[in-house]
Amino acid sequence: MIKRKILIDGEEVDSESGKTFEVINPATQEPFEEVPECGESEVRRAVESAKRAVKEWAKIPVVKKVELFEKVRAILDERAEKHAQLTTRECGKTVREARVEALFTSGHWKIMAAEMQRLRGKTYPNNYEESNNLRIFTTREPIGVVGVIGPWNWPFDIPTLASAAAIAAGNAVVLKPSSNTPGCGIEIAKVIRDAGGFPKGILNVVTGPGGTVGNALVTHPDVGAIHFTGSTKVGEKVARSGGVKKFILELGDAGPMIVLEDANIDAAIKANMFGTFHQCGENCTSTQRVIIHEKVHDEYVDKLISEVRKIRVGDPLKEETDMGPVISEEQAKNIDFHIKDALDKGAGLLIGGKRENLFYEPTVLDNVTQDMVIAKEEVFGPVVAILKFRNKDEAVEIANSTIYGLQGALFTSNLRDAYIISEKMKFGSVIVNDTTNHWDQLSPFGGVKGSGIGRECGHFGIEEFTDIKRTVINLANVR
Ligand code: NAD
Repeated sequence: MIKRKILIDGEEVDSESGKTFEVINPATQEPFEEVPECGESEVRRAVESAKRAVKEWAKIPVVKKVELFEKVRAILDERAEKHAQLTTRECGKTVREARVEALFTSGHWKIMAAEMQRLRGKTYPNNYEESNNLRIFTTREPIGVVGVIGPWNWPFDIPTLASAAAIAAGNAVVLKPSSNTPGCGIEIAKVIRDAGGFPKGILNVVTGPGGTVGNALVTHPDVGAIHFTGSTKVGEKVARSGGVKKFILELGDAGPMIVLEDANIDAAIKANMFGTFHQCGENCTSTQRVIIHEKVHDEYVDKLISEVRKIRVGDPLKEETDMGPVISEEQAKNIDFHIKDALDKGAGLLIGGKRENLFYEPTVLDNVTQDMVIAKEEVFGPVVAILKFRNKDEAVEIANSTIYGLQGALFTSNLRDAYIISEKMKFGSVIVNDTTNHWDQLSPFGGVKGSGIGRECGHFGIEEFTDIKRTVINLANVR
């Protein structure tokens, strides 16, 4: 059993109560880590430490901060394999997938080191005053203490993406990792501590099961911004209980992929395979719904099934495994429910539909209709629903018919349709002729509607963690 400690003010400590909780490896269903169960008092101490760190961080010149970010990146690269193995044991993604995550994780520090050097304000003309004595300009100031609440499906990448951007903008962070993957959150804090040179409380980690620790962070009056990644349901709760503070909410989706009659079917299948089955379908950007023209439906489905048959489900630590277990029994039951509901309402099961413990078979449901839960709500598992359409307006209507709007894809060989349909799709990103699982660390990522508020990555990411201050100087009114 690995015994973990949280990090507050640069020190590894236990919870004040001495209470712990266990982390279960979803592949073996064995507990393998014991983690401090924190409460409000640890959150208060972490916030106090972060407040001190904000002041210290402001004294360090940018050129030195860039060097520190580079150190963090180098340590992350050194520890990439160790981190990948831990990721797999905590959340069940395959070790090959976890290695890609490790690469993204170190990349955020590189990108934010660059963005930090480009963070700047603007000057504005003055509109009314005739004597031309007013000078107006904006600066971007740190918010102060930022609370980062992470999910389990990208347990290194997402907390890092948020923390690197927040710290680059001049803030300090209190991180609450998912209780499924607390070890990953703790390891991030250790890397920053080991880099040396950061103020002690620049990134504190507090852990605990359920919503207690997260809620204490969200409602703390000195936490100026919350970066929350998780389900739409919990995200809404967080926004309601936090009151007036800045929220960056990265929430769920039920990603659609529209396939028009003139689409490159082989390319669409490849995009679908990665979109639905990468990380066992546990991506916010997964392809959950394929909305396909009735004339190409049969060819598409035949080709898709022959690809799905090739997926090797098994031990996620083995190199040859393509798909590991889902995260928990609760999540597996949610998938069971979606499949049963669809089958009860007349969908066809083309392949899969069963599970052994938490190992779900890759599943394809055909003839899915809008009255089925899977057509509307996030399944978050290795399941794709096929819905047929006859005309393009109908396809767009189906794609837009959920509460979500994170990423949607469209396959067509017609330039006009690519423009017109992507304009009509109500999503934070539309990807034409590629997968919904498209991420790029330099361009904006985030959702509309129930998929969230705010944008991550590149200059959008760092700017989210700043307040814009307008300064007005009157050059006349001096002695
Ligand atoms: P979740 O909503 O169950 O939990 C997210 C985090 O919130 C966890 O750390 C949890 O402990 C914490 N939490 C729970 N109750 C809370 C409360 N009352 N106050 C504050 N915090 C609380 O989500 P999850 O199961 O960890 O992650 C899966 C979900 O995340 C999916 O819906 C997925 O689509 C979404 N997700 C979105 C993105 C994105 O960028 N849009 C990325 C990854 C995952």
